[in-house]
Amino acid sequence: MPGYEMIGNEEFQEIKDIFDKGGVLFRHSFDNLRNNSFKVRQFEEEFARKMSSKKALAVSSGTAALRVALAALGIGEGDEVITQSFTFVATVEAIIESRAKPVCTNIDSTLNMDPADLEKLITPKTKAVIAVHMLGVPARLKEIKSLCDKHNIFLIEDTAWGCGGNLEGKPLGTWGDIGTFSFDFVKTITTGEGGMLVFNNEKIYEKAAAWHDHGHENNPNLPRWKDSRSSSGFNYRMTELQGAVGIAQLKKLDSIVSKQRENSNLILEKISDIEEITIRCKPENSYETADALIFLMRDSLTANNCREQLLKNGLSTKILPEAYTWHFAGSWEHMGKDLSMDIGEYKDYLKPSSDLLSRSVSIAIGVSLNSENPSKIRNSILETIKI
Ligand SMILES: *Cc1c(COP(=O)(O)O)cnc(C)c1O
Repeated sequence: MPGYEMIGNEEFQEIKDIFDKGGVLFRHSFDNLRNNSFKVRQFEEEFARKMSSKKALAVSSGTAALRVALAALGIGEGDEVITQSFTFVATVEAIIESRAKPVCTNIDSTLNMDPADLEKLITPKTKAVIAVHMLGVPARLKEIKSLCDKHNIFLIEDTAWGCGGNLEGKPLGTWGDIGTFSFDFVKTITTGEGGMLVFNNEKIYEKAAAWHDHGHENNPNLPRWKDSRSSSGFNYRMTELQGAVGIAQLKKLDSIVSKQRENSNLILEKISDIEEITIRCKPENSYETADALIFLMRDSLTANNCREQLLKNGLSTKILPEAYTWHFAGSWEHMGKDLSMDIGEYKDYLKPSSDLLSRSVSIAIGVSLNSENPSKIRNSILETIKI
């Protein structure tokens, strides 16, 4: 959650540096005005190095990153893209925007994509899978990746909540063909609005870079107005202002994630002996970003009571249970015919997922933690159980 908790003088100095060097806010060109200041380019290079990936491309949002990823992989009309039913609407909106059909799997006890259900939903039309590391817990990437390889399907990781996490030491976002990140104001690091893609294949990177910039190939031998192009595209460019903030935030990523993990563990220690709750599972050898700590209660009524009790004690919850309709495909009536099944059918199909989500309670984790909160959370759970 908490890039915004860490915004300070470092971000300001990076922005000031742009103006000290001539105030060019566009990522390309103006070489005679900018004194060699290229903030977006620098942010991309440092991000790629941090993730040990070949290339990174900064864009205007995490939603844009998903849209650009699908375009770079050539996904469109007639294709199916499988993602998980528990995700933010943005994942599915990007699929719809690319004119493909979104297919949503059930989740398992990790609250991420159930690989067994993924296997059932793969058809000859399936071109890509988008696995989501929802609220910072890694998806079952090993199983998902091997299914994608077996069926020759692209793997995209929606790493909006997973920035700085890893599975078996390999950074989240780098397991598949493309990893996408969000830097909106509630994500682990923030540029206000913003996003990133990482790639290990230069050809796919080049397609993405051109597509996010109206097809510009940024041919170094040509001025921009004569630039070469081989596809149409759109404008999802990041501005130098966002790039500057990103450079400063990236330096804080490791300390943000380790502080969140520490705070999450302090809460976990206080509540893990309570028999009436089940803590969200995670894959073996996960290094989660600990964006939220999720536990499951016996039923939806108890989960809602728990939220009430937390609010009474001056605490809050994040997404579950109060905002799950924004994050669960079984409740997206407003998407009409854009989903792969009628919403009624989806509701039935995704019953195992709604059974898990409706009894989940999610505690937001940040960099700062009031030392009384772990006990208050424990007490809120105990008070709820007594009701
Ligand atoms: C935040 C988020 C996005 C979208 O990112 P924006 O930068 O807000 O556009 C996509 N997917 C998931 C899972 C998210 O949580």
